[in-house]
Amino acid sequence: MKRALIFIILYITYSCSTNPYKTSNKTYKKQTKAYAKVLAAHPLKDSVTNSPYFAGTTNFNLRKPNFVILHHTAQNSCEQTLATFTTVKSQVSAHYVICKDGTVYHMLNDYLRAWQAGVSKWGNATDINSLSIGIEIDNNGFEPFTDPQINSLLQLLDRLKKAYNIPTANFIGHADIAPGRKVDPNRYFPWQKLAENGFGFWYDTVGIQVPANFDAMQALRVIGYDIVKPDAAIQSFKLHFVQMDSTKAINDEDRKILLDLEKKYQ
Ligand SMILES: [Zn+2]
Repeated sequence: MKRALIFIILYITYSCSTNPYKTSNKTYKKQTKAYAKVLAAHPLKDSVTNSPYFAGTTNFNLRKPNFVILHHTAQNSCEQTLATFTTVKSQVSAHYVICKDGTVYHMLNDYLRAWQAGVSKWGNATDINSLSIGIEIDNNGFEPFTDPQINSLLQLLDRLKKAYNIPTANFIGHADIAPGRKVDPNRYFPWQKLAENGFGFWYDTVGIQVPANFDAMQALRVIGYDIVKPDAAIQSFKLHFVQMDSTKAINDEDRKILLDLEKKYQ
């Protein structure tokens, strides 16, 4: 009996001192339980139409993500990012965080909505948080990504693409969907390597002839960019596809790239 008590005390002390996310995990459980209750309720009390008639259909499942949005954390460590995403006052989150050593933290069920995209647009899609999985990669914003990070990322993307049947074109960056507002992931992010593995497209400009009437801004729009602020759209495009060029001009090579990408992303 005495031994059991000592064991319990030791266990409580041990679990308190080793899991810094105990409190936020408890909050997570409480919130998911509350949502589960809303989903299970019938007649539908949360219905915006307030119809008094309910006839439950037998044919449905959960909505699933159709995009993956990639970010750099712009913070100094994984611990700092995990602390930010487990603090109510920050009001930001992601489904996954990938640390420099390749460790992948899962922070939210893929079916639930993280707060990672903010005000954003890609093609005609606007509420990107409702459509996407957000992946944050530990990086201060000015450094290359580590090999273990990219290896873990490729494995994770592979699982997500297969599980939710996410189209190749729909693996994009935060800067792509928020031109002028966001610049992540930074120019060291290996977009070409991702494309070679089936996540996004890359270009081949060999032998490409650009017609005289080619409209570069329309090509950006077809790819998905919001072109309301043309300079910002060009900057986001370059950060993704012409990474070592920080100018806002579109040269002949860029026009070839855009013509090729326009066909792949349309
Ligand atoms: Zn971001």
